[in-house]
Amino acid sequence: MITLALSKGRIFDDTLPLLAAAGIEVLDDPEKSRKLILATNRPGLRVVLVRASDVPTYVQHGGADLGVAGLDVLLEHAAQPGGGGPLYRPLDLGIARCRMSVATRRDFDYASAVRQGSRIRVATKYTHAAREHFAAKGVHVDLIKLYGSMELAPLTGLADAIVDLVSTGSTLKANDLVEVERILDVSARLVVNPASLKLQREPLRALIDGFEAAVAARAAGAAA
Ligand code: ADP
Ligand code: MG
Repeated sequence: MITLALSKGRIFDDTLPLLAAAGIEVLDDPEKSRKLILATNRPGLRVVLVRASDVPTYVQHGGADLGVAGLDVLLEHAAQPGGGGPLYRPLDLGIARCRMSVATRRDFDYASAVRQGSRIRVATKYTHAAREHFAAKGVHVDLIKLYGSMELAPLTGLADAIVDLVSTGSTLKANDLVEVERILDVSARLVVNPASLKLQREPLRALIDGFEAAVAARAAGAAA
């Protein structure tokens, strides 16, 4: 049995068409059922639903043979204690595309704060990526770890800036925040447990090839 770890929402929704292109159908709808283990039309393949940030943990420790996780999640995971374990990353799926950016209140002058070498209070879920980014720029920051609703931090005075994911920018706009710096382009990646790849080489290889073909076909369709 092969176990594929996905997170509910965007990652699940964007992975479904890639699976479908490979002839794989998930037989339960996670929005309608409370099941965490979903059967597929392939008797040898099941899907488990985990938190987005838990996908690398499941795959690294063999709770799942492979999974789909955003680059944002993979980078934070790798920087955690124990997060440096082996994870084979064969493929950029090109789904759940967004960018990691710095945003501030409209009335905060980020450029001059940076120029003047001020200490900037930055709230984020992505403390590792943020620390690296500001260290590389030589900007002094106090990082405040949050787990969600980052947009609130500058509005309440908790922080001067946030590091968060942006796609259309409408969430920032709705909260009167502006994107002042791009840090990283983000998309979801396929990750595979290396031991699984040895032990279940044939079926896993076939599945990875299926994903690869689906990604290539979609890219060709988009170019046409
Ligand atoms: P969660 O809120 O549990 O982190 P999401 O579905 O919001 O779950 O995010 C899952 C992944 O989708 C993120 O790790 C990121 O890679 C990607 N993602 C997050 N926000 C966006 C966005 N606005 N647009 C596109 N992809 C996003
Ligand atoms: Mg989210």
